Amino acid sequence: MTRAFAFLNKKNFPQIGVEWNGTRYNFSRAWEIFKQLKLDRHAPDLPFLQLMVELDLFHAETFDEVFTAIKELRPLDDLRLKPDFRIQPPIGRPQKILCIGRNYLEHAKELGNKPAGGEPVFFSKSVSSMIAHEEPIRLPRFPIATDLKDGRGRIDHEIELALVIGKTASNIAAQFASDFIAGYTILNDVTARELQKKDTAANLPWFRAKSFDTFCPVGPYLIPAENVPNPQALDLELKVNDTVRQQGSTTDMIFPITEIVSYLSRFCTLQPGDIIATGTPSGVGPINPGDLITASINGFGELVNPVI
Ligand code: MG
Repeated sequence: MTRAFAFLNKKNFPQIGVEWNGTRYNFSRAWEIFKQLKLDRHAPDLPFLQLMVELDLFHAETFDEVFTAIKELRPLDDLRLKPDFRIQPPIGRPQKILCIGRNYLEHAKELGNKPAGGEPVFFSKSVSSMIAHEEPIRLPRFPIATDLKDGRGRIDHEIELALVIGKTASNIAAQFASDFIAGYTILNDVTARELQKKDTAANLPWFRAKSFDTFCPVGPYLIPAENVPNPQALDLELKVNDTVRQQGSTTDMIFPITEIVSYLSRFCTLQPGDIIATGTPSGVGPINPGDLITASINGFGELVNPVI
């Protein structure tokens, strides 16, 4: 499985990394070498991962083609990454982050909600809430609501499978939706639960409960869609410290991914780089300062974030 990631090098320049055949390489440098090999003056620069998605170049075949072409001429050793880089969210500036709610029966029940019925429930999270693998989730310091404990109430984790849109999608039928997905990653839809309940009870949107800074860890890898032949058969697991809190399978989604993409594309045009989180299984619970949250999906690696 090829797993790509975005990172900052020692000079804080954005770069593309890739784990290819089990080794981590600097793909940005490999791409420059590849362009020279091909003498292709029209090949674009690829300074960061989101641009690769936007140009429809984020495919498992692109990585294979580039590394295979270089390997035929010379060793890849100098392209190996030393562990002195800083991982970034795979997509730095999506136009939007859309999330599906109540998409797993057991999770809807545990919060006393009805599961999604005839159509999916969706909402948005602010793009500024995104953080990378290993960055801290900061619980809000100031009182956000005086009637809640500590001025903020309970803050919950929610592991979700997230997808990244690869092509502009408007009014797409579910049967074609897979063609519009560039790749998959892990997303933790951190939620100010009591604020959400309070706002829901007052018939207000719950945007603010989802959108605090640092409430959206994403990553660490973006997996090309070609390497995820069945996204409806993935195991999700979230641990708080050493305790497993959430364990689920994407087989249990009420609305499968293709229907989600189709449905959302009827309301707003989905743009390359947009992130869609597909809902959380049961087991959500509070996080507290000092906790270490580890979210994993089989083959996707681990998204680890401390809580402060
Ligand atoms: Mg959620």
